[in-house]
Amino acid sequence: MMTNNCVKCDATMVEAKLDSFPVSVYKATVKPNKETMSKIDPCFVCPKCGFIELYASAPGKFTE
Ligand SMILES: [Zn+2]
Repeated sequence: MMTNNCVKCDATMVEAKLDSFPVSVYKATVKPNKETMSKIDPCFVCPKCGFIELYASAPGKFTE
């Protein structure tokens, strides 16, 4: 199981889902299509301060 601590307050982050999941993200300099878009997954929320941490599931699509 993937666990990490909040970068703001060091509490243990809890994995969460976005509404309308999965939400996609793509590099601002490219056109959005199946090849350039990545899902946002996983998503973690800090139960103490509310900080939300989002990860692109395909970070390789954001290399220069
Ligand atoms: Zn926190």
